Amino acid sequence: MTGANYLLEAGSLKILVDCGLSQGSQYASEQNYKPFPYDPKSVQFVFITHSHIDHVGRLPKLYKDGFRGRVFVTRGTADLMEVALPDNMSQLAREADEQNRQPLFTQKDLDGIMGLVKGVEYDEVIKLENGVEAVLHDAGHVLGSSIVEIRCEGKKIFFSGDLGNPPTPLLRPTEFIHDADYVIVESAYGDRVHENRSQRQAKLVETIVETIKRKGVLLIPSFALERTQELLYELNELHNSGKIPQIPIYIDSPLAIKLTAVYARHSEYFNKEARYIINSGDDVFHFPGIRMTLTADESKRINHVPPPKVIIAGSGMSQGGRIIHHEQRYLSDPNSTIMFAGYQVDGSRGRRIQRGEKEVTIFGEKVPVRCHVVTLSGYSAHADQPALLHWVDEAKKGGKLKKVFTVQGEENSAKTLASLIRERLVIDAYAPKEGESFEL
Ligand SMILES: [Zn+2]
Repeated sequence: MTGANYLLEAGSLKILVDCGLSQGSQYASEQNYKPFPYDPKSVQFVFITHSHIDHVGRLPKLYKDGFRGRVFVTRGTADLMEVALPDNMSQLAREADEQNRQPLFTQKDLDGIMGLVKGVEYDEVIKLENGVEAVLHDAGHVLGSSIVEIRCEGKKIFFSGDLGNPPTPLLRPTEFIHDADYVIVESAYGDRVHENRSQRQAKLVETIVETIKRKGVLLIPSFALERTQELLYELNELHNSGKIPQIPIYIDSPLAIKLTAVYARHSEYFNKEARYIINSGDDVFHFPGIRMTLTADESKRINHVPPPKVIIAGSGMSQGGRIIHHEQRYLSDPNSTIMFAGYQVDGSRGRRIQRGEKEVTIFGEKVPVRCHVVTLSGYSAHADQPALLHWVDEAKKGGKLKKVFTVQGEENSAKTLASLIRERLVIDAYAPKEGESFEL
């Protein structure tokens, strides 16, 4: 389900697509320490679809284990990796320390792998070896995210990475691909349909206004990448149009603050509307009331600011990060609100609160949940079932599509999507298990 990693072999050529960490309750897990099921030294090229840790986090270990080839990513992804990987390394080191084991990789490995990274443009033809070529297309999932096309032995093979959920506030829509021979498509939402998002902004406004009326605190556990920047962009818009009054809004996550700075440098990846607004002189990530709290001291001082206030912090599923300090303080307050603006995996603290559990344990202390609980599910960064089917249907154009592999979803999602592709699109489709191989 997570820890995306695909090996494509053509003669002596070995290409990897993605090299992600498996994401359980901890990154420093047995799964991630295991040796790679191929010799990293024999791999010549790696393509990373995007900077989410479940797609890139194991790359420094690949270097540690001997990989010395070339890593191709978009320039946006390269810049996001510069922020995301060191942050993840610190987390891995902390976890390894708690478990009394060696860290998964060190700064030397991280520096080594970053030295092999080459940033490219969308649609640029990348020549590999033996006539094999690759092209990256815009996946519209997070800044710089790509769909990897490999042209090999007269066939076109597409790895979807994660596909976006357009229209999004900032990014361009997911590109459709055609003429595919084989497609490896994500299936995170292969068995689900997103809630109508037309009410999303109205619900966001309502939640903020209600919280202000009650003089409460609005907590938003948020993924540092993409979700936080989208929220900032929308809050800026709501502020400019007078739909919400000026109140203190804290971005209380060093990672999110640094990633937002990368977004601000890369507006060339944004959609037309967002670029227009930026070109007209609006700094969409900074507006009156916004406070970026980088240090732990600044973070602690948020407590002294009287409500109403909004706190956006990681982690997105309340598994760690600064948000849990705020949850410990405010979950029991009936005037406050916790708003989920992203997917909450089963078993996470976020999911338990979302499901309406009346008590959670934080730092060993039982905390009653008396605050309001709101979910904005229209914020998903993933295509849902109809969107995935539509995307595969477009890939079918050209009449060459032989087989689709549904990956990166829970078993039911992957299998449901595969059976719908077989039934509705009349294309052979299969949900592979980890470690399976296929001849194309
Ligand atoms: Zn992703």
